[in-house]
Amino acid sequence: MKLKLLAGLAILTLLTACGEKAGSTHATQGQAASQDPVKTYNWKLVTSWPKNFPGLGTGPEKFAKLVDEMSAGRLKVKVYGAGQLVPALEVFDAVSRGTAQMGHSGAYYWKGKTPAAQFFTSVPFGLNAQEMHGWIHYGGGMELWQELYAPFNLIPLAGGNTGVQMGGWFNKEINSLEDLKGLKMRIPGLGGEVLERAGGTPVTLPGAELFTALQTGAIDATEWVGPYNDLAFGLYKAAKYYYYPGWHEPGSMLEFMVNKTAFATLPADLQAIVRTASRAVNQDMLDEYTARNNHALIELVEKHSVQLRAYPQDVLLKLRDLSAEVLADVASEDPMSQKVYASFKAYKENVMAYHSLTEQAFLNARSR
Ligand code: CA
Repeated sequence: MKLKLLAGLAILTLLTACGEKAGSTHATQGQAASQDPVKTYNWKLVTSWPKNFPGLGTGPEKFAKLVDEMSAGRLKVKVYGAGQLVPALEVFDAVSRGTAQMGHSGAYYWKGKTPAAQFFTSVPFGLNAQEMHGWIHYGGGMELWQELYAPFNLIPLAGGNTGVQMGGWFNKEINSLEDLKGLKMRIPGLGGEVLERAGGTPVTLPGAELFTALQTGAIDATEWVGPYNDLAFGLYKAAKYYYYPGWHEPGSMLEFMVNKTAFATLPADLQAIVRTASRAVNQDMLDEYTARNNHALIELVEKHSVQLRAYPQDVLLKLRDLSAEVLADVASEDPMSQKVYASFKAYKENVMAYHSLTEQAFLNARSR
């Protein structure tokens, strides 16, 4: 009996030693979690979108699935639609204080917390999706974004891109800048500030409230995303004219945000999985919008008799001038906005010079 116990202890000691050795060997290969192979993490991810809303809402669902598969079930992420755990526009606070470990939203909703956040969704007459991704990941944007969110105990990550959006839904034609005067329009971020300068009244509302607000006349007009998403909300039932292009959001990037304290508790391999899955979803969402938008537009026009309209060229030129004024003013408000704008502006000038010879020249050559 005593011998058996001793033998058992010896085996246990040996196993423990082997386990430690195996763990440290794997750790040097970047698999720190093998030190504790059974440890699992259960995270909550809150979003600003209806559960499973096309693109915006399915993006975080895909993220959760990818993380589950890549981590072999060691990191489980439960995705909540807007209002299920916290309201759409309280995602930032919820993740900051740790109510949820992650969030998925758009940075421009947080301009009241920190004005420079607006630059990390989209800038009127700014960057398209391809250019935005370049600035964020290779042009210094991500480092600035991390610096901006650090005081809130948050880590930002790219969370998808809609591409160039549509200009919005109106119940009257926009033939001159005068037609924007007095217009109450749902248009968040810097685009909203430009509308205000044109004499309109910008409103920020979560997506799920747009249809009712427009139908009841609480707002006169709204922008949302593009045909794929606007069709899903049925906005064509509340407005007749659908304007293009979305000068105010030429390549809107969504965001994942991670509570910094929670992220620090993850072993290195799970941290890498979170980063990699976000990057994959970022590109995947753009691919989905690119493939599906025009089918949805055809349905809007042919089945629902939506009147498609282009913003007149002189209206766009005036809005572009107003945008430049708004950006300069926002940048002068605080040092961080100044710093972000300087980086954004320098990058934009550089990328525009090259893209005028390549992307733009090609699109011009291709068009009929
Ligand atoms: Ca939008």
